[in-house]
Amino acid sequence: MTKKILILPGDGIGPEIVAEAVKVLEYLRKNNSLGIEMEHGLVGGAAYDAAGHPLPEETLDLAREADAVLLGAVGGPKWEPLDIAVRPERGLLGLRAELALFANLRPALLFPQLASASTLRPEVVAGLDIMIVRELTGGIYFGQPRGIRKLPDGEREGFNTLVYKESEITRIGRVAFDIALKRNKKVCSVDKANVLECTELWREVMTGIGADYPEVDLSHMYVDNAAMQLVRAPKQFDVMVTTNMFGDILSDCAAMLTGSIGMLPSASLDADSKGMYEPIHGSAPDIAGRGSANPLATILSVAMMLRYSLDAPASADLIEKAVDKVLDDGLRTADIHTEGTRRVGTAEMGDAVVAALS
Ligand code: NAD
Repeated sequence: MTKKILILPGDGIGPEIVAEAVKVLEYLRKNNSLGIEMEHGLVGGAAYDAAGHPLPEETLDLAREADAVLLGAVGGPKWEPLDIAVRPERGLLGLRAELALFANLRPALLFPQLASASTLRPEVVAGLDIMIVRELTGGIYFGQPRGIRKLPDGEREGFNTLVYKESEITRIGRVAFDIALKRNKKVCSVDKANVLECTELWREVMTGIGADYPEVDLSHMYVDNAAMQLVRAPKQFDVMVTTNMFGDILSDCAAMLTGSIGMLPSASLDADSKGMYEPIHGSAPDIAGRGSANPLATILSVAMMLRYSLDAPASADLIEKAVDKVLDDGLRTADIHTEGTRRVGTAEMGDAVVAALS
């Protein structure tokens, strides 16, 4: 059956990097019988300029109909003066909420060719391959009540609520265990169960799910220790699963172990594995329009899409091997360029990946 992909280039370098990812999809459609059709839509500042809203109803309808969404990036200085309700980032948050994308998958994978780009010693990070599974639609970022209130003595107090239902913990837990089954069969659940009752429940529920996956090795770690272990000995981890806020912080930390923001893809999935796929970086207005951005994070996001939403793992493997090959061949965009390698632009890098696919 033909699968529908909605392409949302967005702003800044978004259109440049997405164009390269589309070349890869087109190649697989024509030469590897990948059954896909692509639609294009507007999101972010580009959508605001054209339609007065960062997430026009038409885009939302297309996203609802699609099997997967590929997004470039949104935002830029041009739209910063706008009211918060119509800023480009609202388009992104709106898509996550409307599509109920509760599972955020952020791999931290270090291509051995780029080990010297990390701020950690190469032997600590070489071969690093972690998948962080972050709960994305619950926890303290959404819990009620929240606000800033005035106390009777006149002092102000800020407050938020950390809340998780068992069902919310169960659904993110199952995503993590299912992914671990396809990897090295290890799940580390990160919580603060010694201090927070909400995560005491989290630990209890994760342990219960673990009983359904006897082949997966489940461990638990307090978040403070997890942060320390990520920079001390990151290769001990396979899949990490955690709450919205802990995942927000730990996934940025893990991403930076690889040292190259232009290399890292991400996925946000709903309960039926429909997903939105995007590089973890932003719209990079400082280099937009120059043809120098690294398209590999977006191309690797396509690989994740094929694996998690389109049930085409062989094509996903093919893309990842092609990226490996261009790095082996010494091609580098400016962000990952080092002495002795060949500096290329966005389109040349995309073309090289397409050539390596064959
Ligand atoms: P950024 O990720 O856009 O850029 C940070 C730095 O990394 C810049 O120097 C940039 O040139 C570089 N960089 C990023 N992606 C690159 C790539 N593919 N190749 C080469 N270099 C790359 O973060 P920022 O500067 O803090 O934010 C810029 C805009 O992007 C803001 O409007 C912000 O709100 C938005 N943003 C959007 C998303 C998203 O769409 N998911 C995420 C983060 C930031």
